[in-house]
Amino acid sequence: MNIILFGPPGAGKGTQSDTLVKDFNLYKISTGDLLREEIKKKSDLGSKIESTIQSGSFVSDDIINDLIAKIISNKKYFNRLIFDGYPRNLNQALNLNNLLKKYNQNITAVFTLNVSKEILVKRIMGRLICTKCGLIFNKFFNPSRKDNHDCEVKFLKVRSDDNEETLVKRYETYEKETLPILKHYKDYNILHEIDGSLDIIEINKEIRDIMETIETWLYYTYLYK
Ligand code: AMP
Repeated sequence: MNIILFGPPGAGKGTQSDTLVKDFNLYKISTGDLLREEIKKKSDLGSKIESTIQSGSFVSDDIINDLIAKIISNKKYFNRLIFDGYPRNLNQALNLNNLLKKYNQNITAVFTLNVSKEILVKRIMGRLICTKCGLIFNKFFNPSRKDNHDCEVKFLKVRSDDNEETLVKRYETYEKETLPILKHYKDYNILHEIDGSLDIIEINKEIRDIMETIETWLYYTYLYK
């Protein structure tokens, strides 16, 4: 199955997808991570991307759609994707539909994490990313410990766009560009709204229950085809 996780910046998409990847044997595709990889290469494209991210705006659809085309055409990921932070506007959603159709796949479920702005600020201000393994932690709500993280503390870093000023702009961009595409998925009857203010384990359980139900349904549909 292919899954999309929606939610404003700081809603917990990355944290949830890291767990779902293990539970359902999926691959996480975070366009934010792919863009940060490009920045690390110190290329011309990377420096353009860096200033766009820093301003809280979206990187151009052409760059994003190219990255996604490479993933969807790769047989290794066939029907095993969890999208975190993509699609982010209607043009990207339509591009995703076309690509999936071309490679004989579809979106099985879309989850949207609803979280108030106040909680988002707290989450963003405490967020730490491990630059070695990519796992996401939070100083206040989900600290890195020996039992949940193998890397050394020195690898934990604050993302450069995780500051209050950029967050305000990222939130506005989310409301303007991303929220409208939820209707697109609602019309297809594959949208599931989740209370993203709950704690990590509770959110995970809600999503997992829905995914397990869908998996069972897909299994019987296949069996009695
Ligand atoms: P994220 O790691 O998902 O919070 O993304 C960090 C930043 O990368 C965003 O604020 C955007 O500037 C950029 N970005 C990530 N994904 C996309 C996308 N699908 N379309 C456009 N820009 C993106």
